[in-house]
Amino acid sequence: MNDIKLAVLGSEGVGKSALIVRFLTRRFIGEYASSSECVYRKHLSIDGRQLNLELYDPCSQPCQGRPSLHDQMHWADGFLVVYDISDRSSFLTAKAIVHLIREMHLGVTKRDADSVVFLVGNKQDLCHVREVGRDEGQRLAAEARCRFYELSAAEHCQEVALMFSKLVRNASLS
Ligand code: GDP
Repeated sequence: MNDIKLAVLGSEGVGKSALIVRFLTRRFIGEYASSSECVYRKHLSIDGRQLNLELYDPCSQPCQGRPSLHDQMHWADGFLVVYDISDRSSFLTAKAIVHLIREMHLGVTKRDADSVVFLVGNKQDLCHVREVGRDEGQRLAAEARCRFYELSAAEHCQEVALMFSKLVRNASLS
């Protein structure tokens, strides 16, 4: 059985936990009694292969032995880098993170960053107070050679599930 580890990174409040909980439970976090765990586990079957998935949310409750961002980059098989489309500063943080991931992966591993680093503009339902254009997200993804998604953990159950499944599949093949 394959073990797949994903890190979900980004500024606090962008919806990392909401995306993870949406994927794991199909519910929005507003309805979910959050636990103090920062590592979520799920058993998955993808393309007939059995996978043990670990999802790491570094901005959840403080937890002992929490690896640094640097350590997570070596630890993880795949990354979701999340920003909030209604918060420009979170986009700048995401930008710094995707560039850091690319730099750290260059020459360090054979993993193909294009397929295992996803840039995610969350809270698309708040597009009336948008501070980051969809085109800006697309440009950053093209520049850092990541896959790009813009969606809403609050409203898009199916899209969130498809995005995670795609990342898990890519990470399991890399
Ligand atoms: P984290 O700190 O990145 O893990 O962020 P959380 O998942 O705790 O979410 C921060 C806040 O944003 C919470 O109040 C969530 O209910 C809210 N939130 C998360 N995703 C969305 C979304 O897609 N749309 C809206 N409107 N709010 C969201």
